[in-house]
Amino acid sequence: MDPKSINEILDTVRGILKSTPPVARDTSTILPKSIPALPRWSTDLPEGPLPLQRSIERLTTDVLPYLNASSLSARYYGFVTGGVTPAALIADILTSIYDQNVGVHLPSETIATIVEVAALNMLIDLLNLPKQDWEIGAAGNGGGTFTTGATASNVLGLGLGREYVLSEAARRATGKAMSVGEHGILAVAQAAQVDQVKVLSTLPHSSIAKAAALVGLGRSSIVSIAKEGSFLAIDVELLQSLAEDAEAQRTAYILAISAGEVNTGHFASSSIPMVRKVRDICNKHGIWIHVDGAFGLFARILMGHPQAREYAELTDGVQGLELADSITADGHKLLNVPYDCGIFFTRHKHLSVDTCMNGNAAYLSSGTTASLIQSPLNIGIENSRRFRALPVYHSLLAYGRGGYTDMLIRQITLARRFAGWIWEHDKYELLPTSTSKEEAISRTFVIVLFRARDEQVNVQLVQKIKESGKIYVSGTVWDGKPAARIAISNWQVDVEVDGLVTEQVLDSLV
Ligand SMILES: *Cc1c(COP(=O)(O)O)cnc(C)c1O
Repeated sequence: MDPKSINEILDTVRGILKSTPPVARDTSTILPKSIPALPRWSTDLPEGPLPLQRSIERLTTDVLPYLNASSLSARYYGFVTGGVTPAALIADILTSIYDQNVGVHLPSETIATIVEVAALNMLIDLLNLPKQDWEIGAAGNGGGTFTTGATASNVLGLGLGREYVLSEAARRATGKAMSVGEHGILAVAQAAQVDQVKVLSTLPHSSIAKAAALVGLGRSSIVSIAKEGSFLAIDVELLQSLAEDAEAQRTAYILAISAGEVNTGHFASSSIPMVRKVRDICNKHGIWIHVDGAFGLFARILMGHPQAREYAELTDGVQGLELADSITADGHKLLNVPYDCGIFFTRHKHLSVDTCMNGNAAYLSSGTTASLIQSPLNIGIENSRRFRALPVYHSLLAYGRGGYTDMLIRQITLARRFAGWIWEHDKYELLPTSTSKEEAISRTFVIVLFRARDEQVNVQLVQKIKESGKIYVSGTVWDGKPAARIAISNWQVDVEVDGLVTEQVLDSLV
């Protein structure tokens, strides 16, 4: 019989998990044995309804056995996938059951939008962002929303940046600000006497180029301002000279700071005085500062930590970022809530509305005009939205600052263990090159980049690691050569157990 009530549905899910347990740490391998190249069921839409028992059979035989253990295993080190905390999972199941649409702010009908703001403000607290600038729903200018991921948050960041730099350039040229959201990029650029908007950055994540394309700036608008001899450090003098020349060049600039570069986990900025200097230049020349801190922003959790000195290289890389105009972070990475969940913060909530206003739809009006909570319709990309805030809210509530600090420190400790182990290993090379083991360890966050010294071994290294079935790493390219990347982002990390298994696998391959 088909389940009707929520309880019967949950029992059914329990039954499925019993007969097809998901791959999990210590009990099985991280990747399924073999995946059918072209699923035979891909095109056969049943004419009529299938009994649920039959469709469940199809799920358990055709689909579930072929999923990977990406977030179930602490030793899945691919990409930066995060895991799912038990508290987040419970709330995520409830999110589907209650199926709230957090598109419209209806404060007398559902508390969902208020929980969303509460969850964002708890994150602002966890990430040590100053409340007077960033807090949402208060009298200040702090704004933000949950998105589908860091990519969508970067689209918002560059979208607000585009709005700001062009309308500011128009104001400087004509004495009158003009909104891009209202009039379009071409009209405002013409009034502003601007021919191009460039995105200045250092080793930005690929999604910054995608975001630049989506908001009409183009992928080729990305310009590197890395210091000579460095791949990531921002050349502040270069920034200054470009900014001073902006008007003559009929160019407007957005600065995108990489707070946690995806191959190395390192940071593009290095201190409060440095970010202050950047801020001053950007203020003077109407430049928007966006921070892509998808996973790196979480280093801010350690800012007030008693052992902060151990993490000084990391906290130096995130201090001062509160001076930015907009910030991206990911919930589905280090926060360990399920896919999908991105986070976007800004200190200029009115620009979110200028950029994202949903036209004029009377049926979607929330009926309250005085609310301090902005309508999600007018500040984000989507209209209808999943209640992503609930898993975030519940996980923060369940583990608090202490739980998240402990989780992050275990992740960093394991990453640093690997950095030291690889540094000492004569068959492996730790990247990027550092002058001492201590230096290499002190700048390691949650990512470890390395290659095998033997070129032939190195070419196959990532594939061989995956074939071990015990750990999973992503491949990348560093300095033109293949490299392997361990990204540690799961709440279950056990430094001893995962450390030993991983080192055994790596040892066996060289
Ligand atoms: C993962 C990541 C992104 C993209 O995030 P999605 O959640 O996949 O959209 C952007 N920037 C950085 C630095 C990242 O690590």
